[in-house]
Amino acid sequence: MPRIAYVNGRYVAHRDASVHVEDRGYQFSDGVYEVCEVARGFIIDMPRHLDRLNRSLGELSIAWPLHRSALAVVIREVVRRNRVTDGLVYLQVTRGVAGRDHFFPPASVRPSLVVTAKKIDPAAGAKRAETGVKVITVPENRWDRVDIKSVGLLPNVLAKQQAKEAGAQEAWFVDADGTVKEGASTNAWIVTRDGVLVTRPADHGILRGITRTTLFDVAAKLGYRIEERGFSVAEAKAAREVFLSSATTIAMPIVEIDGEPVANGHPGTITLSLRQAFFDVAKKSPA
Ligand code: PLP
Repeated sequence: MPRIAYVNGRYVAHRDASVHVEDRGYQFSDGVYEVCEVARGFIIDMPRHLDRLNRSLGELSIAWPLHRSALAVVIREVVRRNRVTDGLVYLQVTRGVAGRDHFFPPASVRPSLVVTAKKIDPAAGAKRAETGVKVITVPENRWDRVDIKSVGLLPNVLAKQQAKEAGAQEAWFVDADGTVKEGASTNAWIVTRDGVLVTRPADHGILRGITRTTLFDVAAKLGYRIEERGFSVAEAKAAREVFLSSATTIAMPIVEIDGEPVANGHPGTITLSLRQAFFDVAKKSPA
């Protein structure tokens, strides 16, 4: 079955889906995006993703490409047309197509909207959670507005590739003061010896992950305490458990940091309980 993409008002064959060379996303990374997980036929936490999209667009003064409810219809339709029951739906909004010029184009230029979806085998994530993943640390070298989910991801791409070449799955950006910020595409967490979950406050220094937000609800349900504060790489290496979170990984155990085993080198039980309870708590919108 051919994949279908939505591009500026049209559903087209994925292989033919394209945007103009003067799209400002292509020219300047002048755009934002969202990734929602699709699980068991439901779009996970769609209202929270659309709220964050609203914030990202507002911070960059980009207009909504469609009314919010119409965008939700497009998202569902792309998931449906691609018959995705487990996977992800990706959406990107840019400031639109205009002759290359740093100044914003006139208001008559409409934002561009692309929506795609793809299937992911849920067994792959489950299997990975059984063994856990490895991370490396890299110095923070991104701009200070990473709270905006912008498509400008070059430092993230380079860090992720560095992780891959080191045999790891994720790279943690570490601040000049030695505290962990977040992964290249995930938020970072530890569990202290006392069983308290620790994650950095979602100020301008990290992206406020939707999975992170929902994990606060999951933790409350399971009776775990959360402290929002910075933690160092050394504290993470000595922690009871370490994990990362994102829409496609949920809560994923980390078992190695910079080549050193952490949490005895095994996925932690608290992490796995958060993972297990996640879909009971997350909002599920039928696709
Ligand atoms: N941090 C960064 C830099 C990300 O790119 C992502 C997801 O893409 C996250 C955190 C996790 O966010 P979410 O839970 O909304 O997927």
